Amino acid sequence: MPELPEVETIRRQLAPLVEGRVLARLQIADPRWCLPLAPEAVVDALQGRQVERLARRGKYLVWELADEAFLLMHLRMTGTLLYDPTAPARHTRARLELDDGHRLLVCDPRRFGTAELARGRQEVTDFFAARLGVEPLGPRFTESYLRALASGRRAPVKAFLLDQRRIAGVGNIYADEALFRARIHPLRPAGRLSVGQLGELRRAVVSSLRAGIGAGGATIDDYRDVDGGRGSFQDQFLVHRRAGEPCPRCGATIVKLMAAGRGTYACESCQPRPRRRRRPVVQRSARSSVSRPF
Ligand SMILES: [Zn+2]
Repeated sequence: MPELPEVETIRRQLAPLVEGRVLARLQIADPRWCLPLAPEAVVDALQGRQVERLARRGKYLVWELADEAFLLMHLRMTGTLLYDPTAPARHTRARLELDDGHRLLVCDPRRFGTAELARGRQEVTDFFAARLGVEPLGPRFTESYLRALASGRRAPVKAFLLDQRRIAGVGNIYADEALFRARIHPLRPAGRLSVGQLGELRRAVVSSLRAGIGAGGATIDDYRDVDGGRGSFQDQFLVHRRAGEPCPRCGATIVKLMAAGRGTYACESCQPRPRRRRRPVVQRSARSSVSRPF
């Protein structure tokens, strides 16, 4: 699934090609793409308008059109945006034609990608406020902010990083890479990290995302850039998808484990497992018997 660096790669490629152009024609082949709105409603709202800016928020691509009409695109699992593809494109869900004759196809074999409409900047702000937390490459993502976010969280830090309502744009790849860089085990509860560890984690999240953007994203399955090309960050993975290989830092074997329901990669020598805390079994059973109504 495209994460922040992959979406940012697409945005950087596409922005100079679409900004200032008019969306001359919009065709929506798959009505599921823009549910719950009907395709006609989306076409009516956007067609004929100038694209003022192509922005990104988390894993969303944000099209800002004239008169504060916004199209919020999410590529989900297998969505791609292809600019003037030479080969016939399959699984096309929508087609955007620009006034300079170029076209852009939204292709998505598994059809999980979405497009939503917002009218007015406030609606965009509200939409993201309900779904997304801090932008990790933005100025608000400071050490003290991360400390406040993690405070009291009992969830494993891997799950904490994947929660888009706290930090927007980090997915499975960049969570593993960041935790390795910060030497933190993925199963460690977020709220029990030390101040020093949280500082390391903040730097590691930022540096992993920046490295991903620098490599044009990572292509594991379906991700392609707007020219149909692949990213190269998969060649620079430190631990992700490297089970059985030696750790690039200490040489121990990288393992695969499950965290937050996702295949997770770590070096348990550099990233020591959290020690199991003894559970107060007696106390718990006493409390549960008290709470019974008889
Ligand atoms: Zn190691």
